Amino acid sequence: MVSGLEKSDLPARSADRVRQSLLIGTIAACAALGLLAAAAVALSRGRGALRGSGAALHGTVIALTALFGLAVVLAALILLQAIASRRRESALQGTIRRQTRLLQEISTVSTMVELLQTCHSQAEANTVIHGALPKLLPGVGGALYVSRRDDAALELQVSWGALDATQTFSPEDCWALRRGRPHLYEPASAAAVCRHIGECGDTCLCVPLVSQGDTLAVLHLRQARAERLTEDVQRLASALAEQLSLAVGNLRLQETLRSGSERDPLTDLYNRRHLKISLQRELARAQRHGFPLSLIMLDVDHFKAFNDSNGHDAGDEVLRGVAHVLKRHTRAEDVACRYGGEEFLVVLTDCAVDDAYSKGEAIREAIAQLHVFSRGIALPRITASLGIACYPQDGERTEDLIAGADAALYRAKSTGRNCIAASNAPGDIVLFESRARKPAGSRA
Ligand code: GH3
Ligand code: MG
Ligand code: MG
Repeated sequence: MVSGLEKSDLPARSADRVRQSLLIGTIAACAALGLLAAAAVALSRGRGALRGSGAALHGTVIALTALFGLAVVLAALILLQAIASRRRESALQGTIRRQTRLLQEISTVSTMVELLQTCHSQAEANTVIHGALPKLLPGVGGALYVSRRDDAALELQVSWGALDATQTFSPEDCWALRRGRPHLYEPASAAAVCRHIGECGDTCLCVPLVSQGDTLAVLHLRQARAERLTEDVQRLASALAEQLSLAVGNLRLQETLRSGSERDPLTDLYNRRHLKISLQRELARAQRHGFPLSLIMLDVDHFKAFNDSNGHDAGDEVLRGVAHVLKRHTRAEDVACRYGGEEFLVVLTDCAVDDAYSKGEAIREAIAQLHVFSRGIALPRITASLGIACYPQDGERTEDLIAGADAALYRAKSTGRNCIAASNAPGDIVLFESRARKPAGSRA
């Protein structure tokens, strides 16, 4: 495309050369005619005595002067035409440059959109954005912030150019998010600067990314040393924000569907379906590497009575509180899940029975100490009973381990609740008495 345009320049250039030669030729002719006229005048003065030929000579001088004038007018016309043509040519070059750039922009944007459509995570999308945006906005620094949920903080995903970007900020700290439209800050103007930018001598533009009425993200651009962000850059930023909002909205939807299929909506713990898959995976890993693995099954004591006295909403708050305790007491590699109703199950990887007992005891104590509020009112304390089963001694299969933990829990319930029972072999249950329930002075 570009080389085609360059080729079409050739006739224009040769026409230019012809015009230049014509101009030089005309000026040379004018100069020659001028010299000829001057010589004729000098000659007529020198031969003033020859009256007869004087009149003829005078006529020749007038004709030559008229010819000279005509040549000057011709030269001026050609000159004006050359100037106009040069202007047309440079305007055309400008248009070609703009169109070439536009074509490149369209191609980069469509490649970026195509790649974004196939991304399965925000991290993948960030790599694509980091590859495309600096090319589309050369010389302009920028960053993309995304919020995971409505009203949640905006987290830095990707940045480029000379930009010391804030890691996270609240939606309240950005004028673009508050106003729901792009916000331009120029140091010399009266516009307010966003709080997430702070004191700044740069020109800044924030463009909100909106999808179906929800604000998902912000595209932040920054031009150093208060240089202007051109209209073209602002136009492009709005177009990019539109494309990115579709991609970010799609990724958020994927994330919601994914977490909905593996998380319990009340407690945000993993659900039973996810537990089945991850327990199988962790057990296989433990068998391959010869590591122990423990399961803790936990059930809230007398929860029906609690619901009856305090209401279902208060009961839900308690379940959220118990889930919080489990999250606090488990490592990233452990799996804590809501097994159903007021029952929970924790998979502790690379953990033998003694460590599982210590962990269970810490959980039991934390639940007994839990302060839960519902509508600003402190709820009565609750307790929980726990059953432990471990690989390899309690079974080789997931079903056996779950059944072992359930049986241990049943024993803990029947022993009086608010305690832990461990199963060290199928059918053979050993009760660990709760430290909290032990009389003072007894051995640990
Ligand atoms: P135990 O000490 O023997 O476990 O007695 P319990 O009352 O806790 O056990 P039971 O199985 O009789 O009652 C369980 C109660 O848990 C009944 C049900 O209303 C309540 N429950 C189950 N799921 C939820 C929930 O999502 N929210 C609330 N608030 N309550 C729930
Ligand atoms: Mg139960
Ligand atoms: Mg219960």
